[in-house]
Amino acid sequence: MKYSELVRLYGQLDSTTKRLEKTYYLSEFLKKTAADDIEPVILLVQGRVFPSYDERELGVANQLVVKAINVASGIASAAIEKEWAKSGDLGKVTESLIKGKKQSTLAAAELTVKKVFDNLRKLTELTGQGSVDRKLQLIAELLSSAKGAEARYIARTILGQLRVGTGAGILRDAIAWAYFPKAVEDVFVKCHSCHKTVPPADSCAECGKELGKEAKAAAAEIEAARGEYNKILDKIQTAYDLTNDFGVVARKAKTEGAAGLEKVEIRIGTPIKVMLALKAETVQEALDTVGRPAQCEYKYDGFRLECHRRGNGVWLYTRRLENVTSQFPDVVEYLREYVKGDNYIIDSEAVGYDPKTQKYVPFQNISQRIKRKYDIDKTAEELPVEVNVFDILSYDGKNLTGEPFRKRRELIEKLVKDAKRKIVVSKAIVTGSEAEIERFFKKAKADGTEGLMLKKLDAPYKPGARVGYMLKFKKVMENLDLAIVAAEWGEGKRAKWLSSYYMACNDNGKLLEIGKVSTGLKEKREEGLSFDEVTELLRPLITEEQGRLVKVKPKIVLEVAYEEIQKSPTYESGYALRFPRVIRSRTEEKGIHDINTLEDVEKLYRQQKKVKG
Ligand code: AMP
Repeated sequence: MKYSELVRLYGQLDSTTKRLEKTYYLSEFLKKTAADDIEPVILLVQGRVFPSYDERELGVANQLVVKAINVASGIASAAIEKEWAKSGDLGKVTESLIKGKKQSTLAAAELTVKKVFDNLRKLTELTGQGSVDRKLQLIAELLSSAKGAEARYIARTILGQLRVGTGAGILRDAIAWAYFPKAVEDVFVKCHSCHKTVPPADSCAECGKELGKEAKAAAAEIEAARGEYNKILDKIQTAYDLTNDFGVVARKAKTEGAAGLEKVEIRIGTPIKVMLALKAETVQEALDTVGRPAQCEYKYDGFRLECHRRGNGVWLYTRRLENVTSQFPDVVEYLREYVKGDNYIIDSEAVGYDPKTQKYVPFQNISQRIKRKYDIDKTAEELPVEVNVFDILSYDGKNLTGEPFRKRRELIEKLVKDAKRKIVVSKAIVTGSEAEIERFFKKAKADGTEGLMLKKLDAPYKPGARVGYMLKFKKVMENLDLAIVAAEWGEGKRAKWLSSYYMACNDNGKLLEIGKVSTGLKEKREEGLSFDEVTELLRPLITEEQGRLVKVKPKIVLEVAYEEIQKSPTYESGYALRFPRVIRSRTEEKGIHDINTLEDVEKLYRQQKKVKG
């Protein structure tokens, strides 16, 4: 493929900010791209020559481009710099200066995508003595052959400044539009001016004319017809999440269709996006999402580490898919020594500990290890980490992401030989009991971790997704048992109930208000402690009424959860609760003298400050 064709696409992409138009131009281009050119094209439209997880860099400074223009055009560097200072855009300067010396290059060969791609890749391979000169030659060779806008885009790509706005969403959709015309048929409309089938928008992506009324009406129906289309998008997304390379995905889609996308395999040594967690406020909420029983694991305060092994090779990636293998020789050794097998990808959290006390330390204390480029062994000794393995994605060439979590966990337990403060299987229990989880939570906190992760036992591993297969639960605070001292009648459909309650703690026999709570109670008795029930309990205790507010004799004790205790002048205790929620009634077990004291509140306030650092 000629490079000029790609440059024409760059021009189209640059000419619009509209997502649908960009996607359309790219998809039309992909349709006519030969299989062998797909990967270079997909990388080049992203302004790169390697996928984003690959760390190889072109390593070309502005000055080298100036020098290359000088070599290719014969114009003095000082004059080029002057032009550049004037326009501020080295890409445009390259184009106009290279254009100026046209005559001398009439004989030069026409640039192909392959030639540009190969020369740019070669730039990354050159290091050491003489490498700057070699780089200069490679760039100058491209510029000498460049025509028109080609020079501008070559310069921008080299400088890492090619921004034609093709993000992941556009790439994914363009692959679908290019290679799955049947699925797309239902979501496109026909333009009445040029008769092309185009994406539904205000104007036609092909001829620019306004799309007729009928087309717009069709657009409204499109939402309903998205079933097949969405399935294809999902397949493309999944294939991308496994490979992190749209080039590989597009090529598969073109050559093998949907079946090919399904066959996209995990490649050891190529990072996979990790599965992400949702947050739960309460144990109950977490269990409602992941189901009972659930796996509850310690939530370690470290950093995600995806560990790959093939033969003797080991690769370590962070959550952002940065390769950190050389920063963690200790982890490489643990994997070789304590994990059975030599063909796998495991998911883990590396957590730092104090070498003297052997206690876990917060992430901030060890974060510097991730970027460290020198004194690596010394740093590893001073800031050691323990790898806590919690999942496995591939073993012996088999993709395990579709297997239920329970099975994957069983396998990890077989493969990892626990070596404390080196590499261990994450601490876990399987239970559906909230009380047991609360106890485990306390243990997790006492062992210096952040809280718990609750996981769905029969869930697959969804790379890159935050789908509710694992929930983090970091409740920092203990619940408080507080007495209701006043309440308010509700509004609207809650008008028949006392639906917000002023809660108080005990200060040597005096009850001091600490906040108002109105969530956590149910509207129907069958669902748990209800507004109706609490209203009936309070009714005989009313001592005074002022508008919607009633004062009550303190007798009803509620357990209240919250996110944080704050200092506040609003309430007489001097504190307020952020996001308070009623957990249950404790009236049966606790009298007014057993509720939490102001001293307890002060202590929790201080503790929470310590935890937050
Ligand atoms: P957060 O970063 O607060 O969204 O919490 C999710 C992160 O907790 C994950 O990305 C992991 O890095 C980390 N984590 C710690 N312990 C575990 C565990 N047992 N299972 C899964 N993730 C964990």
